[in-house]
Amino acid sequence: MGCDGGTIPKRHELVKGPKKVEKVDKNAELAAKWKYCTLSQEKLRRPIVSCELGRLYNKDAIIEYLLDKTAERPNAEAVTHIRGIKDIKELNLTDNPEWEGERRNAKGDRYEDIHCGMFICPVVGLEMNGKHRFCYLQTCGCVFSDRALKEIKTEICHKCGDPFKDEDIVVLNGTKEEVQKLKEKMEEKRVKAKTKKSKKSKAVETVSAPPESKAVAGPSGASSSTKGSKSLAASATKRSIQDMEEKSEAFKSLFTTHSSAKRSKDQTSNWVTHTPYHF
Ligand SMILES: [Zn+2]
Repeated sequence: MGCDGGTIPKRHELVKGPKKVEKVDKNAELAAKWKYCTLSQEKLRRPIVSCELGRLYNKDAIIEYLLDKTAERPNAEAVTHIRGIKDIKELNLTDNPEWEGERRNAKGDRYEDIHCGMFICPVVGLEMNGKHRFCYLQTCGCVFSDRALKEIKTEICHKCGDPFKDEDIVVLNGTKEEVQKLKEKMEEKRVKAKTKKSKKSKAVETVSAPPESKAVAGPSGASSSTKGSKSLAASATKRSIQDMEEKSEAFKSLFTTHSSAKRSKDQTSNWVTHTPYHF
């Protein structure tokens, strides 16, 4: 600056002029998508996850969001489609041996090369820096360049060997059109899942609230294995069975409203037919 050895500072050194409009380099903007969490805007670091739309996030940012969706976040609109942990997939990325961004930066003697990707395609070695198309497999989370997936036709993952189908491939940071397509696919999938669920919950209703039906109706056949429960259930017309304190846990557990029945999808499928016979 001056003032240290008799130099006289000039006006432009002391007075800040109007801010120069920063030109956003398109490439830099693109590259940033591959380097920063879409939600927190922090540098991507493992564990890194992606959603059904192929955006990249730090897992901790998403967890934080899911724990409190009401908190104000600048980029919350980018994650409204993530309803729970099931809607994200942890990515299995391959480190780029050339990557030394952090170390270089720490020394401060060189600018970080924005085109050096942190990760590479494990098959063809392309850098994941925004210049090449990359995809991940929704089945196992492994990440590959589009080129590898197109050139080497396979039905098992190049990296971990898990089987996958074409529809499991999600393009990362795709174009507007690609994201739109992914969105449609996601919505379709969710509608399908919903209709499945509503069928299930109908079955639950018939069991937990048997108003007119004489016996404990429902597909379980529970009535046959618990003599006497008919009258109990019949008297419970309006109230939920789970609210009745005088009933034993074993009795309550016969019904799908009981906590023991609230299991993951895999476990619920056979419950209805098997459980009644344990009592
Ligand atoms: Zn894999």
